[in-house]
Amino acid sequence: MRRYAVFGSPVAHSQSPRIHAAFARQTGIALEYVAIEAGHGDFPAKLAASGVDGANVTLPLKEDAFALCRSVSARAQRAGAVNTLIREGEHWRGDNTDGLGLVRDLTERHGLDLRERRVLLLGAGGAARGVAPALLDAGIHSLYIVNRTAARADALADALGDPARVHPRAWDDLPGLGEFDLLINATSATRGGALPALPMALAGPRSVAVDLGYGEAAVAFLAWARAAGCAQALDGLGMLVEQAAESFLLWHGVRPDTDPVYAQLRAQADALVSAD
Ligand code: NDP
Repeated sequence: MRRYAVFGSPVAHSQSPRIHAAFARQTGIALEYVAIEAGHGDFPAKLAASGVDGANVTLPLKEDAFALCRSVSARAQRAGAVNTLIREGEHWRGDNTDGLGLVRDLTERHGLDLRERRVLLLGAGGAARGVAPALLDAGIHSLYIVNRTAARADALADALGDPARVHPRAWDDLPGLGEFDLLINATSATRGGALPALPMALAGPRSVAVDLGYGEAAVAFLAWARAAGCAQALDGLGMLVEQAAESFLLWHGVRPDTDPVYAQLRAQADALVSAD
């Protein structure tokens, strides 16, 4: 049986094993997919010892995964971050399916037209790096990148190489940035503390807010978005299923049907929220 894993820290909460098990049942492919806790220091050794044929990588390891690949896809190169590892003998090829996952969720599941949209991206870590190139490719008008560590926002903007559309800004600049059509929280702020305060003027009645996290991690930003009057406030569950399907395609050559798997996870997540 072929073996796969998701590496990250914390990783116990990850829905990826469940999603890949559902895809495997649906497509009749025999595989095992487990979650392995690993941080910056022990990731390479744990990956080598795991004996996996392929892996997903979640926070905080996407830039680490990029560094250990012998080759990477064009989209992973632009992102400088890898979320999918494909074994090639003793070496790894890296790809990044996060961006396509987000764009598919927003455009196909939620029916949004991203063309000419003014977009705010909060965060410049692995997830932000993954989604930024795909948003630009989807035809957005402009991308403002705001990160706690300003140098990381600058580095991401430089890597994207599109100065006419990409604008790195400091957190203190937020009050002067005006209203956005799409606001994306790609920080992990609520995991280790609180999301810094955001001005209400960033959003309006036509704005859509997306937190790339889901469950507890998405509650604070989505509550802010509703209070700020956004038309829609979406979590990262749809992106999670779509990026997983793209990884599955890379490993097995088959793209599973994501709708039933998303519906199952959505029902479970909604039941947890209404039980609170
Ligand atoms: P990283 O560790 O690579 O990056 C974390 C980011 O969050 C950095 O920009 C960091 O800023 C910022 N941050 C952390 N704490 C705070 C804080 N207290 N205040 C402000 N900013 C903060 O993580 P990832 O980019 O891999 O993941 C980010 C989020 O996206 C996670 O919630 C993850 O679960 C989610 N995600 C969801 C996916 C999906 O499919 N739905 C896929 C990938 C990620 P700094 O640079 O200053 O440290």
